[in-house]
Amino acid sequence: MPSFAIKTFGCRLNRAESAGFQAALASAGWTEVPFGEPAEVCILHTCAVTANAEKECLRAIRLARAKQPGTFLVVTGCAVEAGAVERLLRLGASLVVAHPDRDELPRLVLEKFPAVAVSEEPPPPPLPVRPPLKVQDGCSFFCSYCIVPHTRGAPVSRPLAECLDEAARLVAAGHRELVVTGCNLACYADGGCRLSGLLAELHKLPGLGRLRIGSLEPGINEVEIARSMPGSPKLCRFLHLPIQSGATEVLKRMGRRYTADELRRRLDEICAAVPRIGLGADLITGFPGETDEDFAQTRRLVEDYPFSNLHVFPYSERPGTPAAEFPGQLPVSERKRRAAELIELRKNKRAAFAASWVGREVEVLVERNRNRVSTGWTGEYLPVKISGVLPVGALVTVRVDRADGETLLVNEK
Ligand code: SF4
Repeated sequence: MPSFAIKTFGCRLNRAESAGFQAALASAGWTEVPFGEPAEVCILHTCAVTANAEKECLRAIRLARAKQPGTFLVVTGCAVEAGAVERLLRLGASLVVAHPDRDELPRLVLEKFPAVAVSEEPPPPPLPVRPPLKVQDGCSFFCSYCIVPHTRGAPVSRPLAECLDEAARLVAAGHRELVVTGCNLACYADGGCRLSGLLAELHKLPGLGRLRIGSLEPGINEVEIARSMPGSPKLCRFLHLPIQSGATEVLKRMGRRYTADELRRRLDEICAAVPRIGLGADLITGFPGETDEDFAQTRRLVEDYPFSNLHVFPYSERPGTPAAEFPGQLPVSERKRRAAELIELRKNKRAAFAASWVGREVEVLVERNRNRVSTGWTGEYLPVKISGVLPVGALVTVRVDRADGETLLVNEK
C-alpha cells in the first residue's frame, strides 16, 4: 500500500485543507506515516504570512528533498503564491499546486501513481478530535501588511447545505467538537445566510457536542455572536479576534476597519454579554511608524481586557504589500522587544484567567489520556489535566481543584 506524509504550516485553514487531503488519500487506500519517515509522497502545506514562516517552509522543502531524494514532493499553500513556482521546483518540489487547484491536490497526486491499487476497505480517514470545518476562503480587505488576499484570492463562502452536510458527516464519525474555520470568517455569506445564521443551523445538529469559532475579524459581527452565546449552549464561550493594535493611528495605516475606541466599545459589549468569556487576540508589534505611545496604547488595551490567549507577532515585511514600502520601518530588534513585552503580559494574564476557574465547573473535551491522566480543553480554551482515564472524545463536566500556570488540574473523585 503506498504511503504519504503531510507537514502543515500556519493557520487553522491550512490544517482544515490538509485534513481534506488526508481523508481523500486515506480513502483511496493510501497509508499515512509521520512526516520524516520514508514515504512515496511527501506533502508540504506551506505558509507565507510572515517572512519567517516562509523561510521555514523553504527550509523544510530543501530538507525533505535532501533526506528523501526519491520521494514525490508536493508543495502547496501560500508560499506557492508568494514565491515563484520555478524557485520551488529548483528547491526540489516534484509538483507545485497553486491555490486555485488546491482542492484537486489528492486527484493530482493519485494521477501520478495510476498503477496503485485501491484498497477495498480503506482505513477511516485520520482526523483530529476537534476537526476544522472549512466554510469560507479568501479575503478582499487588503490590510496594508497582509499577503493573504494575494495568495488566497477573493472571498468565497461554501454553500450552507454543503457545510451542514460535512458537519453531519464529521459528527456521525464520532467528532464532538467542530471548529468553524475560514480565511475571513466574519464575511461568511450564502445568499441571506450570514455567519450567525450558519452557526445557528450547525447548532441544531443532533449529536454535536461543541461548536468553536475560529479567528474572527473584529468590527463586523463579533458582538452579535457573543450575544448569541448565552442562548447557544453548544457554542464555546471563546472568541479569537485579530485586533493587531490598540492605537488608532496604527490601525489606520494597517488599513483596519475600526478605531481603538470602537474596538474598546465592542470588547465592553462582548464582556458584558459573556462575563467569563475566553478572549484571544492577534497582535503585531513594531508596525512601520509605531511610536512608543502607540505601543503603550496597545499594551494598555491588553491590560484593560481579560485576554487569555495572545498571539504576538513582530511585524514582518511581505514584499508586494504597501506596508513593506511605508516609511518609519522599525529595527527588527525593537519589533521583537515589544513583542517580548506583550508575550510576558500574556503569560500573567493567561495564568490569572486559569486561576479564576479554581472551584468552578468547566466542560472539557477529552483529547488524550496517558499515564492515567486525561487531558483536554475547556470551551474557553484552557488546557485541563484530569487524574484518571476518561474516553477520548468524551465531553465531561468537572470541578477545577487547582491551576498550574495556564493548566487547570482536576482530581477525579
Ligand atoms: S482581514 Fe485578515 S486576511 Fe484579510 S487582508 Fe486583513 S489581515 Fe489579511
